[in-house]
Order: sequence, then C-alpha cells, then structure tokens
Amino acid sequence: MKLLFTPGPLTTSKTVKAAMQVDLGSRDTEFMQVVREIRSELLALGGVTQQDGYEAVLMQGAGTFGIESVISSAIPKDGRLILLVNGAYGERMAKIAEIHGISTQIIRFGEDEITDPEIVRDALNGGNYTHLGVVHCETTTGIFNPVTEIGALCAEFGVTYIVDSMSAFGAVPLNLTTSHIDFLVSSANKCIEGVPGFSFILCKHSKLMAAEGQSRTLSLDLHAQWFGLESKGQFRFTPPTHTLLAFRQALRELAAEGGLEKRAERYQSNFLTLLKGMEKMGFIPYLPKDRRGYIINSFLYPSSSAFDFERFYNLLNERGFAIYPGKLSQVDCFRIGNIGQLKKKHIRGLLEAISEVKAIMGF
Ligand SMILES: *Cc1c(COP(=O)(O)O)cnc(C)c1O
Repeated sequence: MKLLFTPGPLTTSKTVKAAMQVDLGSRDTEFMQVVREIRSELLALGGVTQQDGYEAVLMQGAGTFGIESVISSAIPKDGRLILLVNGAYGERMAKIAEIHGISTQIIRFGEDEITDPEIVRDALNGGNYTHLGVVHCETTTGIFNPVTEIGALCAEFGVTYIVDSMSAFGAVPLNLTTSHIDFLVSSANKCIEGVPGFSFILCKHSKLMAAEGQSRTLSLDLHAQWFGLESKGQFRFTPPTHTLLAFRQALRELAAEGGLEKRAERYQSNFLTLLKGMEKMGFIPYLPKDRRGYIINSFLYPSSSAFDFERFYNLLNERGFAIYPGKLSQVDCFRIGNIGQLKKKHIRGLLEAISEVKAIMGF
C-alpha cells in the first residue's frame, strides 16, 4: 500500500474504502438518508444549523466544481468581485471569474505573504464591490489566511463573502456565523478524509435564495442543486453514490477520533514531526515560522547540484511514499501533506525513506 503525503486524494482508512462495497440506487430511501445525514453533519462542522439560516449543498465533481458553482451562480450580472490572491488556488478563482465574464478586481500578495486585512480594508474603501473571495489555507504553500478578520470587513462593507476552505475545513476551527461567511466550499477528499467525487458548499440561506435563476451554467447551478436536494432529497444528475457512502463513514470516523479539535491536533503533530525531521536533515521550509499552517509543508529545493526533484520523487515513490511537487511561480519547492490517515509512525517512516534517498543521491 502506498501512503499519500499529498493534499488530496489522500490516504483513507480501510473502513472508508470498505463502505463503498454497496450499490445503491439514487432514489433508494437508504441513500437519501445518507445524503440527509451528510448535509446536516457538514453544517454542524461549520458551527451552524439549518434553523440558523444555513444550507449545505453537495455538488458532483472535484473541489474546483464547487468553487465554479458558487462564482458562476452567486454573483449577479452587475456584480463586482474582489479576489485576494496569494497562490495558485486564488489564481484559479480569478480564472473562473474571467471565463464567466465577471467584473473582477484582483489584489495580489506575495506567495509567502498573508492577505493583509489592512490592505483589504483600503481596497474595499475604494471600490464598489458586491462579492469578495479568498482561500482559507492556500495549499500552494500551506499558508493560512486571516479569514475571520476579512469576514469582519465583508460584514462592515456589506460584501458577500466567499471562502475556499477546501484544504482546511474539518481540521481548522471555523464558524460560519462568527466569520461572517456566506459561501464556504470544501470537498470530500481533503480533511474529512473521504474519497474524491464531490464538493460541498455551506451557505447562508438568504444568499442562496438570491442566486435563483442567475446561474451561468446548467450543471453547476447552485440554487437548482439545492432545490433538488431539499425538495426531493435527490441530485439532479447521477450522484456519486459510492463516494457518498464512503464520506458518511469518514464523517463518523472524524467524530470517533474526537471531532475537529482532535483531528487538528493529529495534523499539527504530523506537521511538527515532519518539520523537525526535515530541518534536522538540512531542508529549509519555504514559509517563515509565523505564517505556517499545519495542513501541508513546503520545502525549498536543496541547493546542491546532486538534487533532482524527479529522481527524489521516484525514489520515494518506489519506497511507498508519494509526495507532492511545488506549485510556486517564483521559487523551486516541493510539498509534503500532513492530512489523511497519517500518524506519527507514517511520518517517521517517510523521514527514514528521505534520509535513505538523500544518501543515495548524495545531496
Ligand atoms: C484541493 C484544492 C482545491 C480543489 O482542487 P480539485 O483538484 O478541484 O479538487 C481548491 N482549492 C484549494 C485551496 C485546494 O487545496
């Protein structure tokens, strides 16, 4: 078995995989119950309920489909979007907005800088924006953006707030109400440790209702998707039935682990064990200490000419460890994810393999 030190798909438990060994029809009452349970559990993880005025919508496809669903459904024709970008996933939001012809202002920060609320305040002061988008954990580097502070600004300026919390939700404490989030997007195969196949959107009921009839696509229409789930308990198009079964199991395992706080502790411990071991071997983390999250570690390429990422990757892969290439525009980096069914012994195993490979390559 290969261990995935990546930000998704990631290493899942045997029991999550086993939960998929059942064929259920999309109109099966058991299946509809699974969907109901998932939707209500997801709201609970965001600290809210339907009674508080929040909704959970499940959307087929990868995480990006969920982001595109929100951007192409929630912003009206005359809307004005401001995007805070400090990595590849922020750039992806910008690309989506551009494709849909949405009027967009992009505020770019360095990939090693957080999206500074002071700069955001100035930008909101100067423009007539209706929507703001930001990435919670920018998986490009692992940096955490100050989503709650930015949410307070959105509330102050009356701007609808969209958060890509793909790689953080379920393992980084976040409350939709206190962070003033109107649309939060995450997916099945990140911190909740399910298998790929759908994304989910947690959103304010009133903002969702405002999106009725204004989607720029058929299949990613957020309001129509919600309406199908809410009125008939069904997806509009073929649901990822097996993925949903696996996800319900993953949610139960998250609860059994002790919930979000315990999962956050395990990831933090993975992160620190890995960081310490890598620094001991001379690897240098990309981000300064005060800006590192704990979802993924990014390291600079060693300066030695004996280092070649392809070879490094392949030698680790042969030993059963899959790491992740970098995605930075300026600097050569590689990444090691701390999420998924990974425990301290797995991190130690990876560190041993890296030490061995380092000796073989001679850097
Ligand atoms: C994983 C991820 C996505 C979505 O990626 P997909 O490949 O579409 O699932 C989006 N944003 C962030 C921050 C991510 O980590």
